[in-house]
Amino acid sequence: MVRSTSATGLGDRYTPTSGNPGYHVELYDLELDYKVRTNRLEGVAILSILTTDDVSSLAFDLVTLKVSGARVNGHRAPYTQGPTKVRVQLPRPTVAGVRLTVELDYVGRPGPRRTRWGRIGWEELEDGVLVASQPTGAPTWFPCNDHPSEKSRYRLAITTEKPYRVVAHGVPAGHTSRGEQRTWRYIQDIPAASYLATVQVGDYVADEIDLGTVPGTLHYPRALAKRVKHDFADLGRMVALFSDRFGPYPLSKYDVVITPDELEIPIEAQGMATFGSNHADGEKGSERLVAHELAHQWFGNSVGLASWQHIWLNEGFACYSEWLWSEESGGPAADVLARQYHARLTLQPQDIVLGDPGPDLMFDDRIYKRGALLVHALRLTLGDEAFFDVVRGWTELKRHGVATTEEFVQHASDRSGRDLGGLFDAWLVRTALPALPLP
Ligand SMILES: [Zn+2]
Repeated sequence: MVRSTSATGLGDRYTPTSGNPGYHVELYDLELDYKVRTNRLEGVAILSILTTDDVSSLAFDLVTLKVSGARVNGHRAPYTQGPTKVRVQLPRPTVAGVRLTVELDYVGRPGPRRTRWGRIGWEELEDGVLVASQPTGAPTWFPCNDHPSEKSRYRLAITTEKPYRVVAHGVPAGHTSRGEQRTWRYIQDIPAASYLATVQVGDYVADEIDLGTVPGTLHYPRALAKRVKHDFADLGRMVALFSDRFGPYPLSKYDVVITPDELEIPIEAQGMATFGSNHADGEKGSERLVAHELAHQWFGNSVGLASWQHIWLNEGFACYSEWLWSEESGGPAADVLARQYHARLTLQPQDIVLGDPGPDLMFDDRIYKRGALLVHALRLTLGDEAFFDVVRGWTELKRHGVATTEEFVQHASDRSGRDLGGLFDAWLVRTALPALPLP
């Protein structure tokens, strides 16, 4: 039986129909024209592609939006479009290692896609847009090779009505005005996974903030100014703490967007994070989440995932960073928090395999907490000096790359010179919750 190629992805077991074999996207050059009032998006995507196999056509992930033209190396190319894929025919079969430019024109009314993890991707706010794509929302706004291990550079030019501000996952490269329209440009030269690409549109003011070694900006609705300034005032201290413990801040900037709408959870993007108005309550009620999203710049965004199965490498470290910040800022020590959460986890079903939880449980809170507890167990086992040396070595080894759980286990053992097989096996492979080592 021949499998339909349109349903064959890159092979991630958790998102089997996302991603496409045979090529790597080196650069996405996206030119988007977006009307906030009518939610109409018109785009030209120019993809710089390196083939990785013999191919005669290339598939791209794209949902809801309709392709109106395709070109390969500047020449019109035939294409077909299904509900989740666009397939472009190459003028002739091509071997691995060839560079091609594929250009797609597309248009439509973007919206979130329904997934087992809820509605994700491009989403209209009351007045503007947010994009939160983890794990498979990127195809709601641009044609892509949607797999966490596929990291690419980006150029973005987004035109929309005044007075809206566009914030995207790159370094600002200026904006130009034409009548009632304004075009915002961003450049991302640090490779980013497609789920970490984002566009935020809103009637925002922008405040530059002092983050020490990193340019930082807060974007928020003017009415929230007082609450935002108060609640995000510690970001510079957080950057200093995490840079000391994890190694240098890995991206070229950090933008925080606070939307006028309330959001269930904040979400990280490459060099960015987005919070809801409810996360700026004026009383630092979501401070742990401010630390959590910042920590994802090291864990998730710089050190990416080879596949979704290894999600604890993102969420375990990000959750542990909340506890490190608590310790630093005069709250309960990480050890106190770890023992509290450990006690709570013992009361919950112990049926999770942390190293391979399955797609339905990949964002379960137990992954976050058990992941953070494993990080703490490692710290207690190695002692602070060796533990933070392992962590800094890890972010250096995998800087702007992708990682697996097995690679982390190997690295921790090699770097510390300790046999950690039993510790990792108990936390990652078995389901019973291990006891925490004594402090
Ligand atoms: Zn997270």
